[in-house]
Amino acid sequence: MRNIQKIQILPSSTIAINTKATQKKLKGELIYNFAAGDPLIPNHDAITQAAINAVQKKFAPYPPIAGLPKLRELATSWMNSTWGANYQVENTLITCGGKIGIYTAIQALLKPNEEVLIISPYWVSYPEMVKLFDGRVRIIQTTPQQNWKITAEEIQKHATPTTSMLIFNNGNNPTGSIYTREEIQKILEVADKMDLNVISDEVYSGLTYDDNKYVSCSSFPEYQNRVIIIQSCSKNFGMTGWRVGLIFGNKELIKILTLLQSQSTTGTSIISQYAAIGALENAEIVNSYVRKEMQKRRNLFMDNYRRLFSQNAKNPASTLYFFAPISDFHGGEIDSGSFCENVMDKANVALVPGIAFGEDNYVRFAFSEEEESILKGLEALHSFCTIKK
Ligand code: PLP
Repeated sequence: MRNIQKIQILPSSTIAINTKATQKKLKGELIYNFAAGDPLIPNHDAITQAAINAVQKKFAPYPPIAGLPKLRELATSWMNSTWGANYQVENTLITCGGKIGIYTAIQALLKPNEEVLIISPYWVSYPEMVKLFDGRVRIIQTTPQQNWKITAEEIQKHATPTTSMLIFNNGNNPTGSIYTREEIQKILEVADKMDLNVISDEVYSGLTYDDNKYVSCSSFPEYQNRVIIIQSCSKNFGMTGWRVGLIFGNKELIKILTLLQSQSTTGTSIISQYAAIGALENAEIVNSYVRKEMQKRRNLFMDNYRRLFSQNAKNPASTLYFFAPISDFHGGEIDSGSFCENVMDKANVALVPGIAFGEDNYVRFAFSEEEESILKGLEALHSFCTIKK
């Protein structure tokens, strides 16, 4: 057996903080949870009803490995009509959430010692997944001045002859940045020139706010062979716990991922797949139900954040997150892990340390909890900072 300790895989720190918050809650303490990226909203009736109908059939066999044909068809036409893609059902795989899709795509595509470009700040799991498959992580730093976005030129500068993959997260967790069509076009041109596979993590595509428009890498069919799209019902349709991911790629890769799935998860729970059919049959309605609620929470969070901490804080364009400099809390001298620990211990406010995303001077807030909890949590953090001063 491979020794996980030897390759130094870190546990997911968002899950670690969330677990600590849950433990305190179980002891009866009131926790303000800004740590979990979970749109806390009742499932839309379209989801619940489809699942109830499936359960009432009293028949829940093993699923087809690649997903129910109806769900694959719906997912394919959703991608084509919503994001301008050009997929067929054979380009589509249903997985147990988007996360395992990223994991198996890396497993299928990466050879040991090949290098993977990861743009910082990055989603916590990317570097650890790459290490799990003996790949080498090459981080490219971005700055708030660039709106935390990478350019095609920088990708070209950092790629080496051993680089074989770029992990690109549009609708970025933790910064909420999104890329324009022109920026994506240039990035894909460079990836093509450098012969890089691109894992495009688009799980927040349906959560953009104000007038911001989302552009998917799938709307460039000329690069379809080297781009793997990671999609998910989790955030777009507010159904994280059902665990339904949607992966799109070239037909050969989808065959390999299906094979890996046949020897690992055996596919996604059939009841969850029916729930996802309910969501996708009403995709626009269900997504706008989640998006409108999250827009309200983002506005409430940001208005109060500006009132209490920093007038200059800019609204994130998408996702469920705000990435805040620790200096906003008069705590610039402290590392993000200690800051989050203090805040959790003394104010019962759960935040995720920026170091988990590659930026130690920051912390991540999720604004996906209910409005009252957002307000009280910000007030609790403010009181903590005031006492500390
Ligand atoms: N990618 C990003 C950037 C995420 O933030 C998450 C979840 O938080 C995922 C992928 C995985 O989502 P899921 O497995 O629920 O589809």
